[in-house]
Amino acid sequence: MIQAQTLGELLSKPAVPIATSAHRDGAPRPEQTQAPRDRLDRPLRSLRVSLIDMCNLRCNYCMPGEEYAWLPRDDILDVEETGRLVEAFTGLGVEKVRLTGGEPLMRREVRQVVERLAGIPQIRDISLTTNGVLLARHAEGLAEAGLHRLTVSLDTLQADRFRRLTRRDDLHHVLKGIEAAHSAGLENLKINTVVMRGFNDDELADLIEFGTESGAEVRFIEYMDVGGATQWSLDRVVSKQQMLESLRQRFGPIQELSRNGTAPADRYALPDGTVFGVIASTTDPFCRTCDRSRLTADGVWFLCLYAADGLDLRSPLRGGASIDEIKDLIAEKWMQRSDRGAEERAELNSLRGPLYQIEDLRKDPHREMHTRGG
Ligand code: SF4
Repeated sequence: MIQAQTLGELLSKPAVPIATSAHRDGAPRPEQTQAPRDRLDRPLRSLRVSLIDMCNLRCNYCMPGEEYAWLPRDDILDVEETGRLVEAFTGLGVEKVRLTGGEPLMRREVRQVVERLAGIPQIRDISLTTNGVLLARHAEGLAEAGLHRLTVSLDTLQADRFRRLTRRDDLHHVLKGIEAAHSAGLENLKINTVVMRGFNDDELADLIEFGTESGAEVRFIEYMDVGGATQWSLDRVVSKQQMLESLRQRFGPIQELSRNGTAPADRYALPDGTVFGVIASTTDPFCRTCDRSRLTADGVWFLCLYAADGLDLRSPLRGGASIDEIKDLIAEKWMQRSDRGAEERAELNSLRGPLYQIEDLRKDPHREMHTRGG
């Protein structure tokens, strides 16, 4: 956690140069360059890679519409291009890679991508976030390919609510998928639940108990105003404190646990030792320790979930740039980073509304959550 230095002091500091291809003078290039740090002194450690912008659900806080302008198929990185770009990032200190979408299991080559990443020695953690609908079919293959951890997005255990939220009738598939993940030996299973007032805020205890039965740790996510959340409003947000109060009333005293490094979730234990998490990016943002960035399926790199623009890495890659040249592009960009999107949104307080309206999203599909990979 950054201490002492104020935001102003950090931003006034000149960027710290790293060993870049200035070493072109023939000096041997270090195998793993020291991780570049951004203007808030945050390292580049964790990369979320979207494999596809399409999804087989239509959750109304992400894809409120039915028809979408998908990314041009020819722009989608193939397995080797994805692998090479990730190698550029791991050469700069990235050691955790999370595969996302849209729905990553809709990407036919998902297993090949996991195998490709499992062959990169610097990566110590390969995880994947899925909505679980296709999981029963893929769980074993993903485990064999080298996937370390799996997260299933599940916002309700009630079939009618699932149908209302996603406009699909697939809850039973998701539940089968979670069973299959367990049988495939994918340990450390997590369940992510977006909590919305008046929709599923009465299911927190049920979801925790379901998690215990399924060998999964539940993380409750505060409703966020990003991407397709065009219906977002502050009064529909159930804050971390409100969730804890509701669980305290049901289970008794709750013990706060230490955070897992820079992972976004605050973690807690119930009296019986059951552990759960809360990701409070709306009411208690954690930008000061954020070492995460996102790569879209067509190779655009976003330094923050709320960033308006990203850096196109596909064109230099397809233009023949070397991995070292791409590492320089990434390092230069990261060193200029001062993003703290969720903090800035929180500072809007009651003036805060949805980040985008439908017409804004139509202008650039990269603004969509299902393109950025959440
Ligand atoms: S809002 Fe941006 S800076 Fe803040 S935690 Fe999320 S990605 Fe990181």
